[in-house]
Amino acid sequence: MHIEPKPGRIFIGRFECDDDLLESLTSFCKKENIRLGTFNVLGAVKSAKLGYYDQKNKEYSGCVDLDKKLEIASCMGNVSLKDGEIMVHAHIVLADFEGKAYGGHLMPGTKVFAAEFHVQELVGKELKRGKEKKTGLPLWLE
Ligand code: ZN
Repeated sequence: MHIEPKPGRIFIGRFECDDDLLESLTSFCKKENIRLGTFNVLGAVKSAKLGYYDQKNKEYSGCVDLDKKLEIASCMGNVSLKDGEIMVHAHIVLADFEGKAYGGHLMPGTKVFAAEFHVQELVGKELKRGKEKKTGLPLWLE
């Protein structure tokens, strides 16, 4: 399935040191009432929490806890609705002092050192998440 939205507002800015990255993204989208959109973030974190989805058991199998200062080499994602609420879905790639990378599904508990964001709102039909049977994930449904 897919839709063909139109570009809405564009935002660019930064989050503060010690903010929770996922919570900051979510509260920003809620404050601006961004109900559909895409975003990217770059910067650095003091520590991170990543999720990994176990495709066989259909659940997030624990968390990858990274108690390290890391660069946000890439963080991207989208915004849509789940149970009528604005929900941010983000994936992140983090790099250490040797340039080695870690990646995964961004979880609450990732602490910002510095973070610059770009958010593109999309308008038109809305996308709503609901449990999809084959994957067990809250995917976009028709
Ligand atoms: Zn994910």
